[in-house]
Amino acid sequence: LAKPKTLSVSAIKTGTVIDHIAVGQALKIVRLLQFDRDERRVTIGLNLQSKSMGLKDLIKIEDVLLSEEQACHIAIFSPQATVNLIENFKIVRKFCVALPPAIYGVLSCANPRCITCTESIATLFQVEAGSERVWLRCHHCEHIFSLEGENTY
Ligand SMILES: [Zn+2]
Repeated sequence: LAKPKTLSVSAIKTGTVIDHIAVGQALKIVRLLQFDRDERRVTIGLNLQSKSMGLKDLIKIEDVLLSEEQACHIAIFSPQATVNLIENFKIVRKFCVALPPAIYGVLSCANPRCITCTESIATLFQVEAGSERVWLRCHHCEHIFSLEGENTY
């Protein structure tokens, strides 16, 4: 039996490859970064073979070089992800994502009675790394929740 190819998505000329994403998190990251809302070409690989992780997800975004601030948002879903910036088919920069101390304006509070859910107030969460998951504490209602397995944004 032939082994499945480790990389089943084609190379890009210019753009960003987010690699080593924990399985099941790629779609959440694409939605969080709102790459599903514009006309950029985004390739998503789910459950790809990985030497270090067993299985992983991967995202390629053409013609976008991700900033470190955007990369911070990825860490909330997958702290071990790596970001590769590509120009002319070559990796020009590679960095790990870092958990931000706080995240502003991009996620929704899991508490339906939170003022940010009923009024148009930007959300703000303190980010706390637990041993197995990332916890978010709402600045407005103090509600603490994790994004694991939830679609709260
Ligand atoms: Zn809240």
